[in-house]
Formats: sequence, C-alpha cells, structure tokens
Amino acid sequence: ENSATDSKNLRVKLVLLGDSGVGKSCIVLRFVRGQFDPTSKVTVGASFLSQTLALEDSTTVKFEIWDTAGQERYAALAPLYYRGAGAAIVVYDITSPELFNKAQYWVKELQKHGSPDMIMALVGNKADLHDNRCVSSQDAKEYADRNSMFFIETSAKTADNINQLFEEIAKRLPRPAP
Ligand code: GDP
Ligand code: MG
Repeated sequence: ENSATDSKNLRVKLVLLGDSGVGKSCIVLRFVRGQFDPTSKVTVGASFLSQTLALEDSTTVKFEIWDTAGQERYAALAPLYYRGAGAAIVVYDITSPELFNKAQYWVKELQKHGSPDMIMALVGNKADLHDNRCVSSQDAKEYADRNSMFFIETSAKTADNINQLFEEIAKRLPRPAP
C-alpha cells in the first residue's frame, strides 16, 4: 500500500505537517508548479496535488501530496490523513524557535499514528531569511538523527533544496522486488 505499482514506477502518499505559516503550501507549489506566490492563501481544510519525479536510475516516483491547514483543529481526521502514508515532511521555520518546538510535537504525532517504516524528513524552511536565523542547523540535524529522520533546509522562495528534498525521499523509498 505504501509505495506500489511496479519496480520502475513507484507511487507514494506523502503528508505535510507543521504549524500554520511555516511554508508547507509554498513548498508544495514550488515543487509541483515551480512557482512562489508571496500572497498565497491560507490552506482551507486540505488540498491534494500530485507530481511525478524521474530519478537517475530511470525509475519514476509519483508523489500524492496531502497538504493541510491546522490539523490540530481536525484531530478526528488525523488517522485518515496518516493512513497509507509512506512519507512525511515535518516543516518548521528557521527564524522561529517556537515553531521548531512545535515541529517536535508533529514528529511525536507521526511516531504515534504513522506506519513504522514511514520515510520522515525534517525541513527547516525559509532558509533565505538566514539573517534572522534562530534555529541552528546543528541542533536540527542532531534532533533529526535521534529520530531516524533526514534533515534538510529549504527555501520555497528561492527554490533552494526543494527538488533535493523530494529526491532524497524518493531515494529512500522501499523498492518492490523486480
Ligand atoms: P503554511 O501555512 O505552512 O502552508 O504556509 P504558507 O505556504 O501559506 O506560507 C506562509 C507564509 O510564509 C507566506 O506568506 C509565504 O509567502 C511565506 N513563505 C513560505 N515559504 C517561504 C520561504 O521559503 N521564504 C520566505 N521568505 N517566505 C516564505
Ligand atoms: Mg498551507
């Protein structure tokens, strides 16, 4: 269920978690449409987008991306949201220590509700705002290592590391036997 179709064409449900305003929707729009809209609207409920990525080894990965708003207000939906998800991205904003703490809450939620073999990424977004950085890369990396996640800093604004984020997830997905 997690990432099937065949050995050359994978498909994975990916969920995004993190507090409102950290840039989840902008990361998805940058990846799917190659755009950044600074006036983007707050996500209402949930939105669904898909994008296929071709890897160097000629496999393709179709990401079925579930982006939500304020999951905390939709607690009853959480099991539906996590069910069958093969990958999750937990996002914080590098300029906010508070949002880094909230990211750790989302990681615990994932560990509780998600499948144990889910690929998890910790993403420090808004890396373009480095002059206002409040969360060190070192601290975030150590936290990610302790929780079996991989860590990357991105900017949806400049596109920095956005494709790399999805490529890293794609590379880590379990490959079905050929
Ligand atoms: P969400 O609530 O997590 O989906 O956050 P949004 O994607 O709606 O973004 C919230 C705000 O942060 C918007 O005003 C975006 O323009 C801004 N934003 C998102 N990503 C970046 C980024 O990488 N750099 C900067 N400087 N601003 C960003
Ligand atoms: Mg949003």
